[in-house]
Amino acid sequence: MQPTTFNAKAYSAASDKSPLASSKINRRNPAEHDVQIEILFCGICHSDLHSVRNEWSEFMATNYPIVPGHEIVGRVTKVGSAVTKYKAGDLVAVGCMVDSDHTCANCKAGLEQYCPNMVLTFNSPDKHLGGFTYGGYSESIVVDEHFVLRVPPNLKPAGAAPLLCAGITTYSPMRHWGVTKGKKVGVVGLGGLGHMAVKFAHAFGAHVVVFTTSPNKKEDALRLGADEAVVSRNADEMKKHAGSFDFIIDTVSADHDINAYINLLGVDGNLTMVGAPAEPLRVPAFSLIMRRRRLAGSAIGGIAETQEMLDFCGANNITADVEVIPIQKVNEAYARLLESDVKYRFSIDMASLKSE
Ligand code: NAP
Ligand code: ZN
Repeated sequence: MQPTTFNAKAYSAASDKSPLASSKINRRNPAEHDVQIEILFCGICHSDLHSVRNEWSEFMATNYPIVPGHEIVGRVTKVGSAVTKYKAGDLVAVGCMVDSDHTCANCKAGLEQYCPNMVLTFNSPDKHLGGFTYGGYSESIVVDEHFVLRVPPNLKPAGAAPLLCAGITTYSPMRHWGVTKGKKVGVVGLGGLGHMAVKFAHAFGAHVVVFTTSPNKKEDALRLGADEAVVSRNADEMKKHAGSFDFIIDTVSADHDINAYINLLGVDGNLTMVGAPAEPLRVPAFSLIMRRRRLAGSAIGGIAETQEMLDFCGANNITADVEVIPIQKVNEAYARLLESDVKYRFSIDMASLKSE
């Protein structure tokens, strides 16, 4: 049976060439396991931009209209009859996933992000209403309680929102590959993901080196917790670090020379890609072979690990550095994101939707 629905204000794009604009969408009324959330803040991830412009058409074509947004913090307004974890008034969050099959080996291992039937927060087939899921550039969202996270009360909601993607995407691979005290860790690109990677690697006790193309970010890198900052276009500075890293996380959103970073790894060093440029990168086999280096990838993190990350942030007072904007500035924010001009994440104040 088709669920009943209600209307919600949102911002959507009608095509890969269209700006985001005010619109109305349908949300389902909560079923027994659902939580209805009033969205307070939603971060702007570079993945939103890749998706709106259909830059990943080969891997994940965009269905229009698209309502992006997967860094969501809000208040519970209503819960279904079988919901046990949340009640109206709770401060909660939703990240990149809203469902999975719960039965596959990956789901059972707490790796819902690798479930073959995982449902993304936006641009995935919507099994409740038909069409495609709509994300967080909206005044509300309705989500199965398993995919709802609890936000520690000491974290400010605007800065907590980006933890749901930029946070978990950098926390998870560093935990998985054992970033701890005594390790030398590189962070490539100081944007939304990169600045969270610096905060986590620093909190885990590693020696952190930032690689940036923006000389004006060097000081910030140190303030955010890096021990050193290198302008990656300076070949001499790069050379000094050759063969010395245990782990490097690459967060760059555009085409770049990945071999320059593989060459910085020591024996058994690991370069993990979380940045997702649309075009394939060139990887010389010899660079990997000579020091038994490893090139890896990683997608967000599972639900239990996302809660663990939020609790870690609560205990260590970690949030994203945000520039809060009204939704009416979202297209301008996208243009600035492409210029690497954000310090270090835009967070949309959803109260601004009320005037639409
Ligand atoms: P962002 O805020 O735009 O940051 C990207 C940074 O990359 C920029 O700030 C810039 O840092 C650097 N950069 C940009 N263009 C570059 C170029 N041409 N050459 C070298 N460096 C360049 O983006 P984000 O939101 O952090 O996302 C980063 C990437 O991760 C995107 O591709 C996004 O889709 C992907 N992502 C992946 C996952 C996952 O699960 N794996 C999750 C979320 C996002 P500097 O100014 O310091 O050089
Ligand atoms: Zn994201």
